[in-house]
Amino acid sequence: MRDSDNPLPRPGAGFADALLLWFARAQRPLPWRRDCGAYRVWISEIMLQQTQMDRGVAYFNKWMRRFPDIRSVAAAGEDAILAAWEGLGYYSRARNLHRAAKVIMEKHGGVFPPAFADIRALPGVGEYTAGAISCIAFNNPYPAVDANVLRVFSRVCDIADSVALAETRRRVTELVRAVTPEGRARGFCQALMELGALVCGKVPRCGECPVRDFCEALRRGTAGERPVKGAAAEYRRLVTAAVVVERAGRVFLRRRPPGGMWAGLWEFPGGEVDSGENPEDALVRHVAGLAGAGEPERIGTVRHGYTVWRVTLHGFLLRLDGGAAFDPPGGGVWVKKNALGEYAFPSGHAKLLRLLGWK
Ligand code: SF4
Repeated sequence: MRDSDNPLPRPGAGFADALLLWFARAQRPLPWRRDCGAYRVWISEIMLQQTQMDRGVAYFNKWMRRFPDIRSVAAAGEDAILAAWEGLGYYSRARNLHRAAKVIMEKHGGVFPPAFADIRALPGVGEYTAGAISCIAFNNPYPAVDANVLRVFSRVCDIADSVALAETRRRVTELVRAVTPEGRARGFCQALMELGALVCGKVPRCGECPVRDFCEALRRGTAGERPVKGAAAEYRRLVTAAVVVERAGRVFLRRRPPGGMWAGLWEFPGGEVDSGENPEDALVRHVAGLAGAGEPERIGTVRHGYTVWRVTLHGFLLRLDGGAAFDPPGGGVWVKKNALGEYAFPSGHAKLLRLLGWK
């Protein structure tokens, strides 16, 4: 029988108590902990996927001022939702959140549903997020295994299998289910995540760890080798160019098609720069009508990441006379410069606007 066929050994009695005691003392005062209503927990969980904590807190507070409840999210237009999300990336999260708010209004009378199956059925809510909302908002004992929790248990149980394997996650999930103390799911779930974030991080600080007496990896001297990971992601590089065209206080924008990268966001015309090509030539190749319209000036070069992509974007500005024609095939809209804040851009294009001081 393979090791991975066996359930993981449960940490000894006292593990949950030690962890909860520490959490009561050491937890960070995060805004969704002051009031852990389901709407707030849901928004925080969706925002914190792929987002660092400091940034997540700032966006959370801003979001709550703009959309204080589920009703206000459901009633908003998609552009307002995407604009509030701008800079967080992974915009399908915002679109799903918008759809889910409408489902809650229509199917659950505007009240966030407490049942796990109903939470899991909401657009954009996967197994982990449904577990986290169930635990934190409703104190129901559903396991919520994120990267922090996986790392903690890979060490507490000294797991030699890769944490990238679905089987490892399944075993850890089963263990978390088994060790969650009755009636204390809310605290336990957050305490595990907090331990992974504050103490049992990439470099474990075992000397100050509240569960060091229960940690197999510490006992065997393997903490530095855990978690075992799969192969690192391979990044792909992309070089692009875009031109901000301004005419009489308005800026030319295009909307990206639905589906695919940055679906539905707004951007400036441009495209990929081929290897060996200069960005000015690439712009002329991609933006019909640019060649005769004038000489774009360089704004700067920005870099940004999206999933496995590492994108370099060369930005240009073309100021046209009030009467000059610019009407490239594919269409677009002319938007007042002072209304640009209402439009959501992929982060590279938003950076160009910041370089110009327009957003
Ligand atoms: Fe992590 Fe060290 Fe604590 Fe073990 S003792 S859980 S490795 S911080």
